[in-house]
Amino acid sequence: SDPIVIIGAGQAAAAFAGKLRALGSDRPVTIIGDEPVLPYQRPPLSKKYLVGEATFDRLLLKPPAWYETNAVTVLTGRRAAAIDRTRRVVALDGGEELAYATLVLATGATPRRLPAVIGGDLQGVFTLRDKADADALMADFQPGRRLVVIGGGYIGLETAAVAKTRGLEVTVVELADRILKRVAAAATADLIRDLHKAHGVDILESTAVVRLVGADGRLTGVELMDGRTIAADLAVVGIGVAPNTGLAEASGLAVDDGIVVDQFARSSDPDILAIGDCARFRYEDRLIRLESVQNAFDQGEAAAAALLGEGGAYDPQPWFWSDQYDAKLQIAGLHHGYDDTLTMDGPRPGSHAVWYFSKGSAIAVDALNFPAAFVTAKKLLEAGKHVSRFDVETKPLKELMA
Ligand code: FAD
Repeated sequence: SDPIVIIGAGQAAAAFAGKLRALGSDRPVTIIGDEPVLPYQRPPLSKKYLVGEATFDRLLLKPPAWYETNAVTVLTGRRAAAIDRTRRVVALDGGEELAYATLVLATGATPRRLPAVIGGDLQGVFTLRDKADADALMADFQPGRRLVVIGGGYIGLETAAVAKTRGLEVTVVELADRILKRVAAAATADLIRDLHKAHGVDILESTAVVRLVGADGRLTGVELMDGRTIAADLAVVGIGVAPNTGLAEASGLAVDDGIVVDQFARSSDPDILAIGDCARFRYEDRLIRLESVQNAFDQGEAAAAALLGEGGAYDPQPWFWSDQYDAKLQIAGLHHGYDDTLTMDGPRPGSHAVWYFSKGSAIAVDALNFPAAFVTAKKLLEAGKHVSRFDVETKPLKELMA
């Protein structure tokens, strides 16, 4: 009966299973997920859910009845412990085995932590990846408490914004010379920094954390390289993630900062696919991982279609978003390799778009409170249309598509 086993019950797994059924496949599907809940959206964990504006039910990717109607079994609260490729079975924690004809690795990624020797395991120190993390953090988000966010990436900055909104005192500490160094240009970082400053969040850049200090096992402060210690009741560590590749590595699959897959999501073993945050694939001239909902969803769907012989190669059309305070940042394309940027002002105060160019052609746009620029850029990029800096400088948005 050609069973399909999916390890990881997240965004990519749900997209894969959904597409399989939408295309009419009745192959048996079992999803193994170590979290106690059905697949859900993670982005609200640092946004609407964390601020208390969305209940968990609203985060579920599919209603519980969908799984039953579609004969997709989800083993929640179960962890896959090993893959035996010779016998084609997955062993669960506890010893039970599941046989597969096709195995899908959709294991996601794990936040990097600060080591215990520098206080990374003190109470009051959090990372944010799953519902349990968000619930624990929310319980500690009491007005007046002092939060230090370590790492000025999107998750750290979103958490800072929510904490500020909830009445905490917030400092963001960034090791690099500016926030968003890995993911955006200086022009975008400037806009986001201004936003946080206007809300009263302190941002310290070019600032190294030496260690987290505590008393009785509980965080009391964050010691910086320059000798200062910032008093803190809570810290959120947002310094990036590592792909969950342990099972793949242990079973001898090709792994290189992600499970290496081809454009049909096939790993070095063609009966094992990998999708979402854990997978690394060729994009233009290099291997990349994309940590985004767009990728988890599109790659998951493309992999399912390809498995049924009904789809072509996965051709990513990257886009991303971040909500901070009332501001909405929308990103189209990948800025990797840009050699020029141009900032365009939008129709209202506080709306701007940063265009990225490589060798004279637009490759990405960060649009802050400027949906028209985002939509235009996304369409242009998806159409593969060449747009120069001169075009952007001289033509109204509407005409760029012409
Ligand atoms: P995941 O959704 O992480 O699912 C993987 C699942 O597999 C997890 O539940 C994990 O516990 C489980 N698992 C791992 N190993 C095993 C095992 N051995 N056995 C059983 N289960 C296992 N993206 C955006 O595009 N926009 C955003 O605004 C945005 N905001 C985000 C905010 C936060 C706080 C976080 C954490 C992420 C955000 N992302 C955002 C990223 C996005 O959520 C991820 O890219 C996406 O969830 C990846 O989907 P995935 O299915 O690959 O992995």
